[in-house]
Amino acid sequence: MTQHDTAGAAREFLERTGLEPTLNRILVLSAVAAHHRPVTAAEVHSHILREHRINRVTVYRILDLLADRGAVNRFNSGERAQHYCVGGNHSHFHCTGCGRVQCIANEDLHFDETAVANALNLAVSHVDLHLEGLCPDCARAAG
Ligand SMILES: [Zn+2]
Ligand SMILES: [Zn+2]
Repeated sequence: MTQHDTAGAAREFLERTGLEPTLNRILVLSAVAAHHRPVTAAEVHSHILREHRINRVTVYRILDLLADRGAVNRFNSGERAQHYCVGGNHSHFHCTGCGRVQCIANEDLHFDETAVANALNLAVSHVDLHLEGLCPDCARAAG
């Protein structure tokens, strides 16, 4: 699913994933998709709280379920909290200055699957590279 999908799309997506589309699951999946960057469980929780009551533990449990079923991506950015985002196969950049995490299209990394296959004899089916460094703002501040 794309990041512009609505609750209706979240419902369809859950059904396709074989998960019963309960209200809480739709709210959690929509909240992740509403952001254009990876979010933490705490961010998902406060996003939903703007309009609905939901228990923090419920948010954590649903995020784990969605990640286990491949409905959301879950990864550790190097910060303490796990991050979640939607969208297929892609990579992430973690700024060690401000802690921001962003999604990066694999096409932008020019990752060469054929070269890896030839050099290491590995058939690559999924690429999620973890990049770390300074974002433009932090690089400028570091001068
Ligand atoms: Zn930064
Ligand atoms: Zn991402």
